Amino acid sequence: MLCSFVIPVFNEAESLNELYRQVVQNALLSKWCNEPIKYEIIFVNDGSSDDSVEIIHKLHDNDDNVHLISFRKNFGKSAALQAGFRNVSGGIVITMDSDLQDDPAEIPNMISKLEEGYDLVSGWKFNRQDPAEKKLPSKLFNAVTSYMSGIKLHDFDCCFKAYRREVIDAIDVYGELHRYLPVLAYRQGFSNITEIKVNHKKRQFGHSKYGFRRYFHGLFDAITTNFLLKYCDSPMYFFGKWGMIFGALGLLICVWMSVLHFMGQAIGSRPALFLGVLFILVGFQLFSTGIIGEMMIDSHARESYNENRVKEKF
Ligand code: UDP
Ligand code: MG
Repeated sequence: MLCSFVIPVFNEAESLNELYRQVVQNALLSKWCNEPIKYEIIFVNDGSSDDSVEIIHKLHDNDDNVHLISFRKNFGKSAALQAGFRNVSGGIVITMDSDLQDDPAEIPNMISKLEEGYDLVSGWKFNRQDPAEKKLPSKLFNAVTSYMSGIKLHDFDCCFKAYRREVIDAIDVYGELHRYLPVLAYRQGFSNITEIKVNHKKRQFGHSKYGFRRYFHGLFDAITTNFLLKYCDSPMYFFGKWGMIFGALGLLICVWMSVLHFMGQAIGSRPALFLGVLFILVGFQLFSTGIIGEMMIDSHARESYNENRVKEKF
């Protein structure tokens, strides 16, 4: 069994030699069907301006299992993972960060867990060695994502994951979707997803590539991307439902107001009248948005037959 490591690199020169040494050491300890695994390491340079690329060149000179995909500029972690995914040769794929925070000593555990029959084994940084201001938003993000997707994981954001190759071939990672890989896999029918606790280390060299802005972006992502992933095939299920609820409430209030009116009561100054009309309008707007959403889903997304969903074919 060949295991492909996909490792995004953005200015991590100081970590790379040690990372390479530890990954190879632990890959060679790993087994699949009682046979030692073979490995390839695909470093994806995401526009580094330090010596990362030179170091990877040197690693490749000494070990032709080391490969490099190098971006001209920084495109982000999702783009880096996607580039790696489209170039893997292995039957299993492991992703991990290149800053030595993910402990390569966990590689044999991940692989043996995957061998139990799972499609995806996700790392859980239960002892996450990052500042509290990073851990807290992450907890919130994970709770929202788990609730919205129905996937019971503690740590969606952890890059350290092992996949069967079919999963990698079936998903596309773009935008900020690297935090939603289990959700993408699940949506394509890979529901055998589990997690194992992985050791997490403090960053030894360099600094985190994500600043304070990430918390805002992460928060918006948690809302919009989760929402998008849940309702992109069926906007009516959300907008239509709430449109009908608001419309019905508004209608009820207006009927009640009309009854009062015909009973001779003055309703002109009642806030309820305003609310009733408002709810009807809001309901109509929401319902229309749902219809427009349905109209906008292009024929590709609507296709009920999608090659990525097929498990076996003769
Ligand atoms: N990374 C990347 N492109 C980016 C940002 C980060 O390839 O635009 C890589 C980075 O080199 C590291 C991993 O993604 O291997 C995680 O980044 P970082 O350690 O900064 O994130 P944190 O651990 O702080 O969440
Ligand atoms: Mg890190």
